Amino acid sequence: MTSDVTLCECFARDGLQHEPQFVPTATKRALVERFAALGFPRVEATSYSNPKVVPQFADASELLKSIERKPGVFYKATCANVKAVERALADLEAGSGANEISLLVSATESHTRKNLNRTRAEQWRNIADTVAAAGGRFRLVGTISVAFGCPFEGAVDPARVLGFVADLAAAGADEVVLADTVGVGVPRQVKHLVSEAVKLAPRVGVHLHNTRNTGFANAYAALEAGATVLDASVGGLGGCPFAPRATGNISTEDLVYMLHGEGIDTGIDLAALITVAEWLEGQLGRQLPGQVYRAGTFAPVAA
Ligand code: ZN
Repeated sequence: MTSDVTLCECFARDGLQHEPQFVPTATKRALVERFAALGFPRVEATSYSNPKVVPQFADASELLKSIERKPGVFYKATCANVKAVERALADLEAGSGANEISLLVSATESHTRKNLNRTRAEQWRNIADTVAAAGGRFRLVGTISVAFGCPFEGAVDPARVLGFVADLAAAGADEVVLADTVGVGVPRQVKHLVSEAVKLAPRVGVHLHNTRNTGFANAYAALEAGATVLDASVGGLGGCPFAPRATGNISTEDLVYMLHGEGIDTGIDLAALITVAEWLEGQLGRQLPGQVYRAGTFAPVAA
């Protein structure tokens, strides 16, 4: 098992994307800065989505401008198309942009059409165009949605997903993230896909939702198979518009608890992270899916 694990805190993008209430920019800023201070080497900060489609991120540029940067931390923004990359570049030129962007493809035709409103052929032209527009100015993360199963098409052929991993690497992605968007994967699948993907891309990560409670087993399997990046969201927030009853991402504090217990040093202050989850519960007015923030840590596993 690798001890080289990068945790990406996704709350400010995946976690908030499905929150109906607009979260004030100042709150987002405080959270992103807090995550960096707690030791996350990478923080998903926002998305350059069309504000008409995703109003939660209408403040992307304003937010990025306000965030006080911690040296060495990567602040990620999702860029679904050339227009998004152009906005990211303009912010970068102004000295306040993201230094990492994620590009999206879907493993299936139906999810591509519904989520990105393109055909699969168009999505690859879009990747080529966005990479060209980015011009080597950002670290590029290629994310493959529904890599372990699709809400419209069911099982997804692993050979196709691996082909996409190779295609993203060839297009210039520095890293490829396999996303279990609707939380259907099981460890056997994760082990197989990740162990093959690491042969095809410079670095491989997983983005796991805990919809069917397999998220943590899948994270463990991914690490055993050679993944070095794990996405997670504090409190386990997040969702998917096509899986309305889905719970969110694997919760970061639960993941950190497990990794520290396994002797993997994440560099993250677990006790402080738990206080963020507690605070969020109060802010959102509901219990969050995460469990460690409610159960507390256990003495033999150092916080
Ligand atoms: Zn997600």
